[in-house]
Amino acid sequence: MARVALVTGGTRGIGAAIAIGLKSAGHTVAATYHGNVEKAEAFKAETGIETFKWDVADHEACVKGIAEVEAALGPVDILVNNAGITRDGWFHKMDHDAWISVINTNLGSMFAMTRPVIDGMRERGFGRIVNISSINGQKGQLGQVNYSAAKAGVIGFSKALALENARKGVTVNCICPGYIDTDMVAAVPEKVLEGIIAQIPVGRLGQASEIAALVAYLASDASAFMTGAVLTINGGQYIAN
Ligand code: NDP
Repeated sequence: MARVALVTGGTRGIGAAIAIGLKSAGHTVAATYHGNVEKAEAFKAETGIETFKWDVADHEACVKGIAEVEAALGPVDILVNNAGITRDGWFHKMDHDAWISVINTNLGSMFAMTRPVIDGMRERGFGRIVNISSINGQKGQLGQVNYSAAKAGVIGFSKALALENARKGVTVNCICPGYIDTDMVAAVPEKVLEGIIAQIPVGRLGQASEIAALVAYLASDASAFMTGAVLTINGGQYIAN
């Protein structure tokens, strides 16, 4: 069934592939972004997907932004919490700003984005929430204490929210991607990246479209019995379950 889907950080990288995948599945999609207006405009022109600009770390902005999306497209039945940032550095050199910006953007946004849509999903008896965590939230990573903490928090958030909403037709699942070929990974120094690829049994980075295919399933009516799942998709780099 065609529904309204909202994808945060949906104008580039993994989020853009997710937004395109959900549109191909017949849904009406809203894609949010933060600062890269040029990229967002090009994405909208190319795909016809509506774009909306706000900071997911800002609770009031999320409430206002979601109200705008719902006024334009209708109630949100599918929410993909994908937007995320890194501010890497060893913990003993990390300042408070690097800590708090990653915690607020990657974990604080889970509350800010989900709280405004959950009542409507419960009332309508249908909802699909897909949260993007990370392999580094599962296993930890050098130089990413802030990021690993936030992404591990996303896993706990998803499991607890799944339990609370299971009887209401609302599923909540969490995806932990490994290293995917996007701008975020392009920021990793080449030598470090070579080392990372050497640790991936499949022998390559993942593609954003591979994450998008999984999200399309989790967003569909067919996935109703799957909730509270933590799905690992990482080329075999970390076999968690
Ligand atoms: P990108 O850096 O390529 O894109 C990030 C997207 O999030 C952009 O659309 C960006 O908007 C948006 N965004 C960033 N900060 C905010 C904010 N404060 N408010 C609203 N939107 C924001 O990231 P990826 O596609 O690589 O990653 C997507 C998700 O997947 C992230 O949560 C990431 O942690 C996770 N992930 C990524 C992996 C990878 O290997 N790439 C591995 C595991 C997890 P704008 O364009 O305006 O900057």
